[in-house]
Amino acid sequence: MRKPTRSREVGRGERVLPGAWRLRLPLPWPGVPHCNAWALAAGDGIVLVDTGMHEPGSMAHLERALDQAGLQIEDVRLIVCTHAHVDHCGQAPPIAERTGCEVWMHPNHAHHTASSGDLEQTLARRVEIARQSGVPEEPLRRWVEQRRGQGTGQAGTLKVDRELTDGMTVDTDLGAWQVVETPGHAPSHICLYQPERRLLISGDHLLGRVSLYFDAGHTPDPVGEFLASLDKVEGLSSRLALSGHGRPFADVPAHIAANRALVAERLTAVKAALAAGPRTPYELAQEVYGELFMEATANWLLSKVRSYLTHLEQHGDAVRGGETPERWSAAA
Ligand SMILES: [Zn+2]
Ligand SMILES: [Zn+2]
Repeated sequence: MRKPTRSREVGRGERVLPGAWRLRLPLPWPGVPHCNAWALAAGDGIVLVDTGMHEPGSMAHLERALDQAGLQIEDVRLIVCTHAHVDHCGQAPPIAERTGCEVWMHPNHAHHTASSGDLEQTLARRVEIARQSGVPEEPLRRWVEQRRGQGTGQAGTLKVDRELTDGMTVDTDLGAWQVVETPGHAPSHICLYQPERRLLISGDHLLGRVSLYFDAGHTPDPVGEFLASLDKVEGLSSRLALSGHGRPFADVPAHIAANRALVAERLTAVKAALAAGPRTPYELAQEVYGELFMEATANWLLSKVRSYLTHLEQHGDAVRGGETPERWSAAA
């Protein structure tokens, strides 16, 4: 009997502006079919913003996307990563090795780089957090087994040649792009802003379809940091955003407002669930996300719920109790 073959996505490249190409690269994740890398003309080559994740065949997808844009890996003069998530930096080391180019990124990348080369270490930390969050042993065991079957998404060891912070710039033929630190989605997140053209490379800070994610446990208040980053980006006058996933989008202020509204809605939902009595983060994630909560999304949704709880705790609206599992209550 023939196995059903899944028709897989392939890398695609298209010019979005003179001197700027969108490289759409496939991802193996449920609900997130692609990520974008951006090629920006710079002298006799390109600056590559983000790289796609590393998995079998992923470099061929990037090469195919570049080829459709009339480019090749050898044209890469510099890699800039918007943040240290594998879909944005997973292929940086082999590209840097092939071309001899540098890799620039925000310095707060330890949330990824400290354990990115070691799947067992990453899994052990995730399991500890899952137990603290009240995840039952059986689904946790299944999740670990499934994750063991996949790679880390990161090729080689990510080495950062220059640390990007506010006030620094990245030069391209489109002009100089200002680095704008935008933590929240990840502690290492930056956006790039080109003021004369009012272009924003928004990474995962702002996406065309509002979709939130926060890396929990590395900074005091990821949700608070994200809200402050929205304020900061609102102060720019971007007319077009080139995001880490999905098509470029205009009307950046409306997207910022929609993100704020969704954060407020989720915080209200978490508070309402806590008002009914103490809950573990696992129980809260099920209540707040309903049927969106399933094994494939649990890890992602739990990180968000834990970030909302931390935010409420910082604002005196929630109290953490117990250790394993943690049980959270509404503040008296
Ligand atoms: Zn990300
Ligand atoms: Zn991403």
